[in-house]
Amino acid sequence: MYCGIAQAASVLLSDPCFQLHSIQHLLGRGEASAGADHKNFSLHSYTDYITAEEAQKVEKMLAFLTEESKQAAATTAPTSEDDLCPICYAHSISAIFKPCSHKSCKACINQHLMNNKDCFFCKATITGVEDYSKPAGS
Ligand SMILES: [Zn+2]
Ligand SMILES: [Zn+2]
Repeated sequence: MYCGIAQAASVLLSDPCFQLHSIQHLLGRGEASAGADHKNFSLHSYTDYITAEEAQKVEKMLAFLTEESKQAAATTAPTSEDDLCPICYAHSISAIFKPCSHKSCKACINQHLMNNKDCFFCKATITGVEDYSKPAGS
């Protein structure tokens, strides 16, 4: 189950048009007033990646994303949720990429680097991966 969500999440998060509103809109939950930022994002663009079954998983993923963005809006202080890998939501963040400083768990980045070297988030070419441990002080 995590696996499907993680796949869908990485597809979505790697799309430059992806925005949380867009997916909320797709699922009929968005506030229509979100404005002009829907762009051309459509779940139909992902039929190669996402089946109907996957789309249900996307709904579950939306719950994660919504929760994450609420938390991000609510506080800038690190929380245990913020320490979760944003790719798999199953492990703690344990790696930081060079040069872009995005983060994931080591399992995700190590697996990803076997196939390509683009950052999950910004597509920068990853030139190195360093150990990441959460900032001390809580
Ligand atoms: Zn991970
Ligand atoms: Zn990056």
